[in-house]
Amino acid sequence: MVRRQVQGRGVCDPRVLAAMRSVPRHRFVSWTLAGDAYEDHPLPISAGQTISQPYIVALMAEAAAVGPDDRVLEVGTGSGYGAAVLAELAVSVVSVERHRKLADSAARVLSELEYANATVVCGDGSQGHPPGAPYDAVVVTAAASSIPPALIDQLAEGGRLVIPVGPPSLSQNLTLITRMGDETTSKPFCPVRFVPLVDES
Ligand code: SAH
Repeated sequence: MVRRQVQGRGVCDPRVLAAMRSVPRHRFVSWTLAGDAYEDHPLPISAGQTISQPYIVALMAEAAAVGPDDRVLEVGTGSGYGAAVLAELAVSVVSVERHRKLADSAARVLSELEYANATVVCGDGSQGHPPGAPYDAVVVTAAASSIPPALIDQLAEGGRLVIPVGPPSLSQNLTLITRMGDETTSKPFCPVRFVPLVDES
């Protein structure tokens, strides 16, 4: 999976490649789909949501440039797979999921796999998670029509936000936002299709 789908498409950060090799993706899908867990596409999880394609998970982690001392926020825990990849890279990961059932099941798998540095919180991630802020990196795994201001506010100086931006039912652009003081720069880098980020505010 890593050599063909991830490295073959240009992801080259050795820490990201190692993280992708370490996380047992089959543990994050139902046993009926475990045989497909390493295939080159997203898969359904419960509550009508999806676990992203492996390449996209790696691409987002690479764009977020997560260092070993970084504190990371993920919005949209889903299965917990992305949180596990980020937990391989960072000192700590807080992941927010609005569906209680998904949050509970992701927390259980992450704990079984001994990701002690990953915490799952059930709530509206479009508001970020202020108790853990500021974050060196924020990774949003659901599509936003506009960038939730709370996520920029909770970025550390030099922090990176990676988020699919665009209309929910169509394709979006993965976008890298970097915070420098009160300024941000924004760089779209890959067309994608994600489930919508539900803004409950
Ligand atoms: N990273 C996941 C993929 C998640 S799919 C994985 O590796 O499996 C996107 C997830 O975002 C869904 O589970 C959806 O319920 C969640 N979501 C959507 N809007 C949200 C919000 N406002 N707050 C928290 N989670 C949200």
